[in-house]
Amino acid sequence: MDCIFCAIIAGEIPSTKVWEDEYCYAFKDIAPLAKEHTVIVPKAHIESADKIYAGNSVYVAKIFEAIPKIAAALDLGDGYRVITNIGENGCQSVKHLHFHLLGGEKLPEKIV
Ligand code: AMP
Repeated sequence: MDCIFCAIIAGEIPSTKVWEDEYCYAFKDIAPLAKEHTVIVPKAHIESADKIYAGNSVYVAKIFEAIPKIAAALDLGDGYRVITNIGENGCQSVKHLHFHLLGGEKLPEKIV
């Protein structure tokens, strides 16, 4: 399977690691949209949040357990935003589930 995030997890494509545990890998986004922009991915290839079911939801739970630790490691105590894009209309460009962790500054107006 040709997946850039699987290749990053496997170390075949370089990345700046922020966090890693049994279930997830987090790395600096190559094109940051905020002062702090980290991408958090499950270590299993899941296409998007639209493909979560009982058999793989543990990855999402573990990622959300890791998020406060990652945010603390990045010194985001003043707040941050977590976003996941899904599919064509959601403007998802990489078809491996990922959560954008944005912060480090006052973020632009939210859309929801
Ligand atoms: P999305 O548009 O929600 O699918 O987000 C994909 C994100 O992956 C974008 O913010 C890209 O900048 C980021 N990205 C793509 N390739 C890399 C890479 N090799 N290293 C780090 N971030 C990447």
